[in-house]
Amino acid sequence: MKTKLTELEKQVEDILAVPEDQSHPAGKVLSQLWSVSQEQWERMERLTRLSDSYQEMMIQREKTLSERFDKHLRQLEKMTRISDRYQHSLRHLNLELEKTSLIDPLTELPNRRMVMKRLSQAFECQQEDCSQHKKTLAHLSVAMIDIDYFKRVNDEFGHQVGDDVLVALGKLMQGVVEDHGMLGRWGGEEFLVALNCSELDCSIKLMETLRQKVKDFTLSIEGKTLETSVSVGVAEYHDTDSMDSLLSRADSALYEAKSQGRNRVVSG
Ligand code: GH3
Ligand code: MG
Ligand code: MG
Repeated sequence: MKTKLTELEKQVEDILAVPEDQSHPAGKVLSQLWSVSQEQWERMERLTRLSDSYQEMMIQREKTLSERFDKHLRQLEKMTRISDRYQHSLRHLNLELEKTSLIDPLTELPNRRMVMKRLSQAFECQQEDCSQHKKTLAHLSVAMIDIDYFKRVNDEFGHQVGDDVLVALGKLMQGVVEDHGMLGRWGGEEFLVALNCSELDCSIKLMETLRQKVKDFTLSIEGKTLETSVSVGVAEYHDTDSMDSLLSRADSALYEAKSQGRNRVVSG
């Protein structure tokens, strides 16, 4: 049967408490053994306390680290969400910006920049030795359209009506050319069409239709009838043409149409 440690301790303490027993050689050894054992106990207790506080410290540190990690993770998630939203609105803004930089705000037609861009693309192909590109240029013609006596519209009916007429005529002309090319607002009361027609005749016919539709267009304002007409200069691409020379021929043809009395299509 095993004796319990505390009982043994009690017995040793009792023996050491008796003064007569202390002079006995075994008493001395027992006393030394007792103090060594006490020291070891104290050392063990110190070590246990040390180990406990170390463990406690490690648990605390782990807790702090994990809390800090969670906090950073939440911040990161928040930043990712903000960045996603920011990127989304940036993409949206870019699209809007691209749109507004290429669209005329009044008529909502392509603006001069966009028409130039389309023409430049066609002329970029000039450098490339590709039959498809050559065909694109071979079918290219441009028509410069100017509303006749538009100043009178503003003078007689006011600038707002002038704006409304620009919008209405823009829509009307767009309807005529939409399957054959791109109509854009060149500036003021001038428009430009980049046409894709195999023959000059085809471009002239189309512009005749457009001219007639504008002529037939009337607006009734406060009992007065507003009538308009356009002059058109058409030029088709020649092998030696640059974009500038093609536009310049269309411009000269328009000037000729004006000189001949307006409301007409002239090719150059
Ligand atoms: P022409 O037959 O020689 O072309 O005569 P025109 O009166 O049309 O030509 P002119 O160049 O003398 O006048 C153009 C007018 O177009 C003057 C200008 O106030 C008007 N205009 C240009 N842009 C706008 C616009 O955005 N809105 C309005 N309402 N008028 C405009
Ligand atoms: Mg003009
Ligand atoms: Mg004009």
